[in-house]
This record gives sequence, C-alpha cells and structure tokens, in this order.
Amino acid sequence: MVSKITLPLELLRKTFGERLQENVRLENYTTAHIGGIVGGLLIANNQEELTQFATDLWAMSVPFRILGNGSNVLVSDHGYQGVIIVNRARNMKIVTNEDPPSVWAESGANLGGLARQVALQGFSGMEWAAVIPGTVGGAVYGNAGAYDGDIQGSLLLADILHQKLGRNNWKSSQMQYSYRTSILKSQHQPAVILSARFALSPSTPALVQEKMRKFSVQRRASQPPGASMGSMFKNPPGDFAGRLIEAAGLKGLRIGGAEISKKHANFFINTEEATAQDIWELIQQCRNGVMDTFGVDLELEIETLGDWSASKDTPRGREE
Ligand SMILES: Cc1cc2nc3c(=O)[nH]c(=O)nc-3n(C[C@H](O)[C@H](O)[C@H](O)COP(=O)(O)OP(=O)(O)OC[C@H]3O[C@@H](n4cnc5c(N)ncnc54)[C@H](O)[C@@H]3O)c2cc1C
Repeated sequence: MVSKITLPLELLRKTFGERLQENVRLENYTTAHIGGIVGGLLIANNQEELTQFATDLWAMSVPFRILGNGSNVLVSDHGYQGVIIVNRARNMKIVTNEDPPSVWAESGANLGGLARQVALQGFSGMEWAAVIPGTVGGAVYGNAGAYDGDIQGSLLLADILHQKLGRNNWKSSQMQYSYRTSILKSQHQPAVILSARFALSPSTPALVQEKMRKFSVQRRASQPPGASMGSMFKNPPGDFAGRLIEAAGLKGLRIGGAEISKKHANFFINTEEATAQDIWELIQQCRNGVMDTFGVDLELEIETLGDWSASKDTPRGREE
C-alpha cells in the first residue's frame, strides 16, 4: 500500500511562483492520452531550469518525475502524488570539427527532430531514432532503439544531475545498458538527464534521408496508428511479445475504451476515452493468457507512473 503524500503547496507556490501549475490532467502530456491529475506541474524550457527545478524539489523532499513526451509511461487514473516536470529543453547543436563528429541535444529535444537535423547536414548515425516519438531524455533513460540502432550504440556522453552523485558526464558503458533499460531505469535512481551527445559519421543528406524514409515506410506497414505507448511488453528471448499475445487468442480484445491492436498485438490503443485501469486489465489478461498458453512471463517495456494503490492488482513496474 502506498502512503498518501501531501504536497507542500504554499512552499511550492513561494518557490516557483507562476511557473507552478496546479491540478493538471496528465492525459494531455502522454501519447496514450491517459493519466489523472497531478497536484503540481512545472515546464522546463532549458537545462538550467531543469537543473533548478530538480534541485529545489530535492531540497524540499518533494517527489517528482520528469516527463518527456510521455510515450513510454502508463499514468494512473489517480494521477501522481508529487510534481511532474515536463521537459521542453530542446536546444541542439551538430559538432563537425571533432573526431568523431557528434550531435549534442538538450534532453527535451525530440528524437525525430534530432534525426532530421542530422540528416539535413549529411551525417549518418541517428536514422534509427527518426521513428521513435520520444525525447532524448526518455530515450537515454530507457535505451530506446529501432532497426539497426539504439542509444547504447550511439551515446558518447550524457550530462546527468544525480541527487547523490551530483552533476557528471556519464559514458554509455556507465549506463549499464541492456534491452530497453539502463541503471537509472532498473534501479529507479534519482537522476535527471540534462543533455546528451551522440556519435555521427559523414554521409550525404540523400543517403541518410533515404534510409529514414525506408524505416518510416516499414513502421507504417507494421505498426498501428492511434494513441498508444508503443510496444507494451519486451520481446522475450528468441520470440516476439506480439506473436505470443496473438497466438494466445488475445489480439483485438477490448476492455472499456482500450483495445489490443488488430494490426500488432503488442500495441494497446486508446480507441475512445480508455482509462489506465482498462489498459492495466488488458496487460493482466495478456500476462495470464501468455503464461497459461506458453509458460512465458511477459515483462513490461513501458513504465507505470503514479498512484496505483486503488487498482485491483498493483502494477509490478515502478511504483510510488
Ligand atoms: C507509436 C510509438 C512507437 C514507439 N516506438 C519505439 C521504438 O521503436 N523503440 C523504442 O525504444 N521505443 C519506442 N516507443 C516508446 C518511447 O517512444 C520511447 O521509449 C521513448 O524513448 C520515450 O521517451 P519519452 O520522452 O516519451 O519518455 P517518457 O515516456 O516521458 O518517460 C519515460 C521514462 O523516462 C523518464 N525520463 C524522461 N525524461 C527524463 C530525463 N530527462 N531525465 C530522467 N528521466 C527521464 C521518465 O521519468 C519515465 O520514467 C514508441 C512509443 C510509441 C507511442
């Protein structure tokens, strides 16, 4: 059972003034358009603000989470008992006079926009990122990847503010990356990714853009449109979560306004005002169905965020 947290609203108002938004619906900040109310929300427009907000909240012992595009989180219908920092720090710079050439971006930059900028300048290395609808911060945190690339292979350095370790540049090897996870994600470490630098290699705009175009065509052919969180489960070794869910007869299953996509069974779509509870019940049905049929325990790729204490089965993911 999660104990209720009372936000020190007076202190928050005094510290953040008009920047503090109160009682905000988080459904407007997630790609699945799902999520209840958060007591306090701050929008950070650059890495200095991100640093300041995090430092102040740590000093006040107020729990907080960063949201990038909210494309890899299932936010509870009961919201989040703390402060959400929405990351809109989006500066980026391509550095061509160093070896290797690289692109630096603040952590709120969109991966797709970053990939397109890099392509325009005729550099290769970030084509894979063009199809991922998240921010640099969310990607560095969760080791996002697609097709022939991922963060683990591209990251040179991430500038990270850690509550206990202070501010440091972390190499890819220090992030302890594995399939869709990092040490920050697996250990729920109190850290804010401020910016990151990725390695590039010289190419031509035409070649890079053609590769991105092919990825985008492949994407549209295999994945469903609509409000979702992308892949719900990690693929178990040697298999695909979508194949197992389909073979267990669960493709197309609906609960409330949520549906297991008929196009790709590892995508859960918010078709009409789905609640987080609808999605959570579909998750349970898939886990149980795939376990009963194949003896495989599906692991969530997405994270749950917020207050799940009123749910029938508390999520096994990150809880607070
Ligand atoms: C249609 C669709 C397709 C997708 N395809 C892919 C794919 O091909 N490959 C893939 O890997 N993923 C995919 N995803 C999932 C998602 O886009 C990625 O995981 C993405 O990297 C998440 O970024 P975000 O900014 O949305 O993170 P959020 O969902 O906002 O956050 C995810 C986690 O990261 C933490 N976080 C975010 N920013 C920071 C920061 N600056 N500092 C510290 N912690 C932070 C959050 O607190 C949260 O715990 C897809 C999602 C959708 C909806």
